[in-house]
Amino acid sequence: MGSIKTDSLDIQIPSFFPIIGWPAGRGEYDNLFRNLSYFCNKLDHWTFLFNFSSFIFGFTIPKTNPFFNDYIKYEGKNIRDILTEYTLTNREVVSKIKILLDVGGNRIFNKVINDNLPVSEINSYRRYYEAYFNFIKNGKPNVYVNFDIGPSYSSRDEVSIRGREEWNKLSQSIKENINDQLLEISIQNKQKESKLMIPINALNLEHFKSKLSKLHSKYQEEIDYIGIAGIANQGFKKVNQTLRFFNNFRRKSNWNVLCHGLGLGGWKKIFALAYYDIESCDVATPWRRACTDRISQVYIPLIDEQLEITSHSDPLRYEGLYSDRFQDFACNCPFCNDIPLVDVRNRCMNADKQLINQEKHGEDFREMRIRIFFHNLYQHIALLRKLFILKQEKPQNFIKSFLNEIRNTEARKKIRNAVKDLML
Ligand SMILES: [Zn+2]
Repeated sequence: MGSIKTDSLDIQIPSFFPIIGWPAGRGEYDNLFRNLSYFCNKLDHWTFLFNFSSFIFGFTIPKTNPFFNDYIKYEGKNIRDILTEYTLTNREVVSKIKILLDVGGNRIFNKVINDNLPVSEINSYRRYYEAYFNFIKNGKPNVYVNFDIGPSYSSRDEVSIRGREEWNKLSQSIKENINDQLLEISIQNKQKESKLMIPINALNLEHFKSKLSKLHSKYQEEIDYIGIAGIANQGFKKVNQTLRFFNNFRRKSNWNVLCHGLGLGGWKKIFALAYYDIESCDVATPWRRACTDRISQVYIPLIDEQLEITSHSDPLRYEGLYSDRFQDFACNCPFCNDIPLVDVRNRCMNADKQLINQEKHGEDFREMRIRIFFHNLYQHIALLRKLFILKQEKPQNFIKSFLNEIRNTEARKKIRNAVKDLML
């Protein structure tokens, strides 16, 4: 594996940052942190994405309106000390993890909406960005995203809906003006020990192009990382166009900037990231499917522990853990090699309050859901690693080599179709 090595950063490339910060139930988080050292050591995987908003509003789904009192206890502390003190993980693993800190700006935006503050006023955000820069100074993330805000496009609760309405009422120039001011503040507050990532929304490719060249001419010395944002829910074509443009721009301008695909860690997009030499990515889906869906959704595995390709006809499709298919199912991923998926399924079902008619879930329920999370996550990490290895061997033809290794015809067809734009 290649790596990025600087004083503050030493990560393998390409790197996958699972998101820890999507609100979930307390039980899932406790279990995740308790098992974090097992996961990290097993895969030699140390990179994670955290959201600042999780630290100030809580990691778990709040029972009441979002609040801002957790921050007080975290003020002035290194993030690794916070994790050691407030979660069930141990200091040894925490001292080794590499943290990408995102803002989680839509939770902050929703709080501003909830407090009935004017969304177009920079002052409505002041206490949050001041707290953010202060948090970074002491928290020492390896990479952090500049402070920007906007509504939540995926949530359906009342506050999020109102937030979108208020935001949509603003003219394009007012929206840009707020985020330009916040960018300027972020640059002025740059922390030397951490790398600064500036995300650019790529929903509109022309807008992305002009913003990228503006940032290059104005701030090329200050920016360490460009984040490609806003296209995680778009099709493969859009991602392909955007990354191709970025890759060309970076090469032609000789800009020594790193690149991260925000939310672009889905399996199809991983092929494009490898193709265009994008350094890192993240995605929340493995967590959401395993830990926030009522029944954990399991990936049909594509890659096993030895990075060999499986013979399933429908790899990388999610299927509910309680499906009969998993009554007899061999997965040779590193986690299922420790506890077979069949046993994980039985233990989860035997602890599911709805199936056993109890008031509370048994202890195993959440622990098994975390195992499904690990199983799902492995597929993303393994795919990145395998593509990277193949690309080193055959830079021009690595996707073809990958496809050639898939013995199941149906599976090969499915993956070839998904990524065919890269082979034209
Ligand atoms: Zn597995």
